[in-house]
Amino acid sequence: MSSKHPSFFQSVERNFDKAAIHTGLPKGLLEQIKVCNAVYQMRFPVKIGKDYHVIEAYRVQHSHHRLPTKGGIRYSMAVNQDEVMALAALMTYKCAIVDVPFGGAKGGLKIDPRSYKEADLQKITRRYTTELIRKNFIGPGIDVPAPDYGTGSREMAWILDTYQTFKNGEIDSAGCVTGKPVNQHGINGRTEATGRGVFYSLREVVSYKEDMAKLGLTPGIAGKTMVVQGLGNVGYYAAKISIEEGDVKLIGVSEYEGAIYKEDGLDLDALMKHRKKTGSILDFPGAKNLKKREDALELECDILVPAALENQITKENAPRIKAKIIAEAANGPVMADAEDILLKKGIMVIPDMYINAGGVTVSYFEWLKNLSHMRFGRMQKRFDHNTYMNLMTTVEEMTGKKIGTKEKLLITRGAEEIDLVNSGLEETMVYAYQEIRQIFKKKKDIKDLRTAAFVSALNKISSDYMTLGIFP
Ligand code: GLU
Repeated sequence: MSSKHPSFFQSVERNFDKAAIHTGLPKGLLEQIKVCNAVYQMRFPVKIGKDYHVIEAYRVQHSHHRLPTKGGIRYSMAVNQDEVMALAALMTYKCAIVDVPFGGAKGGLKIDPRSYKEADLQKITRRYTTELIRKNFIGPGIDVPAPDYGTGSREMAWILDTYQTFKNGEIDSAGCVTGKPVNQHGINGRTEATGRGVFYSLREVVSYKEDMAKLGLTPGIAGKTMVVQGLGNVGYYAAKISIEEGDVKLIGVSEYEGAIYKEDGLDLDALMKHRKKTGSILDFPGAKNLKKREDALELECDILVPAALENQITKENAPRIKAKIIAEAANGPVMADAEDILLKKGIMVIPDMYINAGGVTVSYFEWLKNLSHMRFGRMQKRFDHNTYMNLMTTVEEMTGKKIGTKEKLLITRGAEEIDLVNSGLEETMVYAYQEIRQIFKKKKDIKDLRTAAFVSALNKISSDYMTLGIFP
């Protein structure tokens, strides 16, 4: 990052300081919460073909106020210590906001995953896991990685297998990593969880009439226009679920190769097919190509969803942003100095540490599933079904009328794992927003949702320290 911008970690610290003054907490306690507790930087060799590649990698545990620590592992050429520290810190606040009882952590490998063969990526991932085991930086009660930019369930399966090889017989070993494939101790709904969480949050945020009136919008998600930057796991599902379950109109998309626009709404599935076939989102029938991929950020729309990487909205392009609401699906897409400009323009920024917390929330459910050694719904699904069936029969007998077979099935269905995961996620996202909104409404000197979210996190983390007896 050039010297005229703060670094990513400095940006997080700036936002922290802005919120800290509203908490009245002791200076030392705030300092303890703010710092990164442990930074592990490693370099290890991996034989690729005939050559050795020296891999630069990190794992940062930001806060140990609750254990295990939790956070994804990123594979990208932009990885550096400052970035991983910032992302780890965000995990701490994120977990607190959605009441996931973990400290924050993050890992990163400075590699371009697209330039390696699958077998080589496996070698690298397994070696990284070994380094973590060696330093006691992984374990179901210690530190639990998950997917992030450039990684997915495949990498998590390799991590689990490596861990179990070393920790043979450890009863809870499946909980050493989350985001695993469903048939390898994963949980249904984890893949789309962050995107689904973005949708639940948005639906809640836009439901308040008075808040929307300030933005010149009517309440309700249906019909709102959306622009998405990044069609990766987060952006794709945020858009897909918003369209399918919220009746949102997706009018712009930006990806690595460029950006497109269509005023009356893009067909996302057709666009994905087009991209698969041609290798690009550009030249999609009916849509207009934009000159540069960054131009999508400046489109007029109700909701802008940056779902790629950090530092996308800077003080340079902030004055040109025309969205009414920015939903930070990525971590850190709005730089701290850019946010000042956006807020002055009256734009509502829904902060990353709240709106993208769906991923870690469902990771928590997966971890619980691993510790309980049982899938959700196994105990009560049939019982519920039978109870509702009896109820239906009683209603039929009392009224002398028959309930249709289709209706009956719908009403009497016991919950599957996916139903419970989605319902837990929905409850989490709605409840957390209500907490943040309450702080925002009550404290008149708090001017933005990020500060309110930080205050919510700091209140919870500080009370953990109090109960630990460290800060009386
Ligand atoms: N990488 C995701 C995040 O930034 C998920 C972390 C997790 O599930 O532990 O929130």
